[in-house]
Amino acid sequence: MKKIIEEIKKQKRFLIISHENPDGDAVGSTLGLYFGLKKIKKEVVPVLPNKVPKIYSFLNGTKVIQNDFEGEFDVGIILDCADIGRVENLKKKLLKIQTLINIDHHPSNFLYAKFNYIDPKSSSTSELILKLLRRAKIEIDENIANALYTGLMTDTGGFRFPNTNLNTFKAATYLVKYGANPFYLSEMVYSMKPLRALRILGRALEKLRKENGVIYSILTIDDFKEFGAEEEDAEGVVEYLNKSNESNIAILFKQKENGSYKVSMRSKGNINVVNVALKYGGGGHINAAGFDVKGNPEEIIKDICRELKCE
Ligand code: AMP
Ligand code: MN
Ligand code: MN
Repeated sequence: MKKIIEEIKKQKRFLIISHENPDGDAVGSTLGLYFGLKKIKKEVVPVLPNKVPKIYSFLNGTKVIQNDFEGEFDVGIILDCADIGRVENLKKKLLKIQTLINIDHHPSNFLYAKFNYIDPKSSSTSELILKLLRRAKIEIDENIANALYTGLMTDTGGFRFPNTNLNTFKAATYLVKYGANPFYLSEMVYSMKPLRALRILGRALEKLRKENGVIYSILTIDDFKEFGAEEEDAEGVVEYLNKSNESNIAILFKQKENGSYKVSMRSKGNINVVNVALKYGGGGHINAAGFDVKGNPEEIIKDICRELKCE
């Protein structure tokens, strides 16, 4: 981290980028670092490969986020990406930047940058950005605090997942002290969903199946079209599938326009779903992982069950 701070202090023009289909941690860590570097008078361009999901667009700064970039940068800082491929079609341009810094909390991180700051014990990349800003003696203001708290809150499922620990609460306490508003943020993220998101959740629950100890559901393009919903409207649906006392593994298939599927897996206890995600070219954490795949969902379920030795 010391070297990263030295590099940040030394250089002038920064690109900050996080992963496709950005979640709360991708948006929160990008904005937190963006506001932090602006405070020390750096030139900063924040980028996400796709548009910011509507549930996070209330955060200050989201309007500044670009979906592409041009021009010269001294440093590219990649956040919350275990694999540089997660920046999608921006990878080629990103690799042209002379100095790359990789800040992440995924245990499956490929250490692809010149400087890699990876801490799998951290709840979120947002928590690591807080550490970095504090170590660099950059003052935390309300914008930074709200952005980073959103990342902490969403990556821990509202401070419930196994990655929630003493350090998570210490970070949250610090952020609240410097202006984060927990009730406002949880209302905005969890209680302001469009009706179509509830309808797509209803459809996923209606189509739920249980096989070999796995609960799964498949949302097709037609399901999304029927409600005028998009993939981001199904965020959080897999958490519902994981609430049953009859299974320890939940899987949600979300079909994309091109017919392939985005697969989200959740597990309980020491059932590790990241290895099977890695096998399919994805990644994630022990209890939450995902991948993109072409093929028949029923076959993929069978294969996952073989890999995980389900009952
Ligand atoms: P999700 O199911 O999309 O909420 O993702 C759960 C976890 O798996 C997150 O930590 C993601 O970073 C990771 N993940 C999901 N999809 C992919 C993918 N295609 N490649 C790498 N990691 C993924
Ligand atoms: Mn993420
Ligand atoms: Mn994260």
